[in-house]
Amino acid sequence: MSLASDEVTVRRTVPPEVDAVVVGAGFAGLYLVHRFRQMGRSVIAFDTADDVGGTWYWNRYPGARCDIATTDYCFSFDPELEREWTWSEKYATQPEILSYLRYVADKHDLRRDIRFSTRVTSARWDERARRWKLETDRGDLVTCRFYIMATGCLSMPKDIDIEGADRFAGAVYHTSRWPHEGVDFTGKRVAVIGTGSSGIQSIPLIAAQAARLTVFQRTPNFTFPAHNGPPRPETVAALAADRDGYREAARNSRAGVPLDHLATNLLGEVATPEQRRERFEWAWERGELFALSAIFADVMINPRSNDIAAELYRERVREIVKNPETAESLCPRDHYMGTKRPCLDTNYLATYNLPHVRLIDLRKHPIASITEKGIDTVDESLAFDAIVYATGFDAMTGALVAVDVAGRDGVTLEEKWKDGASTYLGLTTTGFPNFFTVTGPGSPSVLCNMAAAIEQHVDWLTDCIAYLDANGFDTIEPTETAETGWTEHVRDCAEITLLPTASSWYMGANVPGKPRMFYVYTGGLQAYRTACDDVVRSGYLGFRLDGPNGAVCNNGIICQLQPDVAMLLSAIEKLNLPPMETMSPDAARVFTTATAARRPAGPRVGAVRDGLLPGSAGDVRYRLYRPEGADPVPVIAYFHGGGWVIGDLDSDDPLCRDLCVRSGAAVVSVDYRHAPEHRFPAAVDDALAAVRWIAAHAFELGGIPGELVVAGWSAGANLAAGVCQAANALGGPPIRAQLLITPVIDGDTTRPSYQANGAGYGLTTALLGWLYDHYIDRGDREDPRFAVLRGRLAGLPPAVLVTAQFDPLRDEGEAYAEALARAGVPVHHIRARGHIHTSLTMVDVALSGARVRAEMIEALRGLLPRE
Ligand code: FAD
Ligand code: NAP
Repeated sequence: MSLASDEVTVRRTVPPEVDAVVVGAGFAGLYLVHRFRQMGRSVIAFDTADDVGGTWYWNRYPGARCDIATTDYCFSFDPELEREWTWSEKYATQPEILSYLRYVADKHDLRRDIRFSTRVTSARWDERARRWKLETDRGDLVTCRFYIMATGCLSMPKDIDIEGADRFAGAVYHTSRWPHEGVDFTGKRVAVIGTGSSGIQSIPLIAAQAARLTVFQRTPNFTFPAHNGPPRPETVAALAADRDGYREAARNSRAGVPLDHLATNLLGEVATPEQRRERFEWAWERGELFALSAIFADVMINPRSNDIAAELYRERVREIVKNPETAESLCPRDHYMGTKRPCLDTNYLATYNLPHVRLIDLRKHPIASITEKGIDTVDESLAFDAIVYATGFDAMTGALVAVDVAGRDGVTLEEKWKDGASTYLGLTTTGFPNFFTVTGPGSPSVLCNMAAAIEQHVDWLTDCIAYLDANGFDTIEPTETAETGWTEHVRDCAEITLLPTASSWYMGANVPGKPRMFYVYTGGLQAYRTACDDVVRSGYLGFRLDGPNGAVCNNGIICQLQPDVAMLLSAIEKLNLPPMETMSPDAARVFTTATAARRPAGPRVGAVRDGLLPGSAGDVRYRLYRPEGADPVPVIAYFHGGGWVIGDLDSDDPLCRDLCVRSGAAVVSVDYRHAPEHRFPAAVDDALAAVRWIAAHAFELGGIPGELVVAGWSAGANLAAGVCQAANALGGPPIRAQLLITPVIDGDTTRPSYQANGAGYGLTTALLGWLYDHYIDRGDREDPRFAVLRGRLAGLPPAVLVTAQFDPLRDEGEAYAEALARAGVPVHHIRARGHIHTSLTMVDVALSGARVRAEMIEALRGLLPRE
């Protein structure tokens, strides 16, 4: 069935000028050549290999297979190809995938425009000619308008960084540069160094041949059985029934594979022991990489949930591996499950039960040196006939910076990225016009089905080039603003997961000296595709397009909301809830209480006690949160949000717990009388009375007398600010600091943020109007007990003030921070980028808020006197 011939025609005519040069002839390079041809553009591709295939040309080690089912890990651009090709296994072997890519190259006659056995060595942007000038190691000089690096995320083997490696006199192999003729290990003493995917796939097969196999393991990995066999019948049936629909679902999925069948709502900590086991067993039997990250809904974001799954994994290792010491060494403990790429294997763990296979745990017995005869650990000398390095790659950027790519002003990519890679969409980078990277840093790439990711990239960039031509532009380049924004977004996405906690190649941690950052976009292919499409829909937002008729630049940032906040807003929008301002206050309260009952409870604190304290017109409720450990501690008097109409001790309970745990202070959350039943200034009076009482009773609350902080969120922050002003004016009680989280400051709805953020970000301008009207007469709105900006600010306690970028109240918070500073009050102003009014308080729901709360408490600590 394959058209591919093993005989590769090497054409050495290289045209001096083409529209596009492509580096690489793997999945990405092949599709690029095809697309450029279809568009009628001249293209030439280069590859150091002597044939197509990329990854599947180079990685010929025994056992090399894909770990995404091949029914998904393939091209979708050619329906005819899809009908012609049938995969023999769920996870096809390297030879089969290579045959497929050769078949594609033959079918579309792609080799005609590819020059093999040729390394691109340099590429320089000629500003005057507006062209790239490339050189190869075979002396070719090519000029092109567009330069595309399809050089692969995992194509540059990592240097061998083990002392004495060059002294070994026996045979040396690297899994990613395996001899084409294969290797026969029969009767040989073999060492394998490295237990990532390549090691784990090859070890059982090397063990089947070798007389003795010794595996040198630095970090044990999580590995699940692949349960390989024929392609999954459900997928085959789904493809047969509606191929286009299936591929479309894959394109619009998080991982480039339709995964709805794997989803669960079960949280690891909430699950019963039986449910946990059941879920783990399901993942173990499923034989699918993405099942690992779906064991529990929160397994990739909640360390405790991940620990539960990891412990079940370790139990399984102990069941399979008979030697207890070996089993313990194979149990991963230094990283969360899934934070280093997990593996799918065939008989990997059981291989260690074979009498001629030995595991050396390098954490206990490090390699001292490689010698002429073998490997010396700190304890013993071992002789080998062959050493196999399965030590991985300089991933994501290695192949890109290996070429001397110099953009505008001669700055090289390596220089630009010396402190970390920055791109716009993982596709382009400032200073490098008409330069594209396929699956570059900051794109979803290796966290999803790469075939789907590659097709999306190639489609996007070739459409972009067609747009430039159709609209008379010569060049395209991203702006600094757009690139900085995207880089922040990539980091934000990673930081809500556990992924950046591991020393993985995703972090660049495997290569000494490489800048540490999360190199991959974790938001998923679907979100990424939406972002790329939105950029186009917004007139190439964040790009400068230049041509003979002038330049166009719609500068700006895509994806400004924190990723989890964006998800929450979209989930809430789908619920199609009635706006709160259309409800009665009582109905709004019932709604708020019902919503609060369904949230996570917040962290555990030392103790919680409810009580009553005297307000200005009768008792009000309070709730005391005490931290673990010995008293006395500082005290925070806290006022809940809810626009003086809704909210209570329960509504802000998770936030108070979080404040208590983070600060180590006792938090006294105080209720106050609500409007419209009790209008302004009832709440203000209650708040002042409460703070006086708390100050007077600090000791019995477990607090240090005189160490009082007053805090609040939203309307509660308005009360907190007012209390500080009143205490200042009245000469007491003494307040050390104020913490104002997205406060109401003067309710001036003419400020720009009421317009810009007035709808679509949770708290709306309409709802604020409803709350103000219930709370306070129009004639009272300049009273400084409400419009605290109009109060006397000099002499107020130092403030930590938090504003959120997409909050209607943002500008009044900004104004208060400025006014306080002008009045000589020390202010630590935190601008919560990408946040909305409510997200900072949504403990364990909007995970990105945790970083802001940590910063807030850190700042608060800095304002309190030190012991
Ligand atoms: P590559 O296939 O890496 O091709 C890049 C090509 O560029 C190489 O041939 C290289 O020689 C060439 N090149 C680089 N620099 C130069 C230069 N300066 N001059 C000339 N040529 C150059 N992904 C999945 O989604 N699913 C899987 O199951 C999966 N399994 C994998 C298994 C292994 C062993 C490895 C290493 C990776 C795997 N991946 C998998 C990731 C895999 O790399 C991608 O899926 C995909 O093959 C990448 O295609 P590409 O065309 O972008 O890059
Ligand atoms: P890898 O995951 O980076 O694993 C390299 C291994 O070598 C690790 O165990 C590492 O230990 C060890 N190592 C590196 N330097 C060492 C040293 N100096 N001394 C001792 N040990 C050392 O590389 P890989 O296995 O080639 O896989 C890379 C990626 O390619 C995979 O994550 C996957 O994305 C892809 N891949 C996929 C498949 C598949 O199943 N389809 C197969 C192969 C590869 P530390 O962890 O301690 O650094």
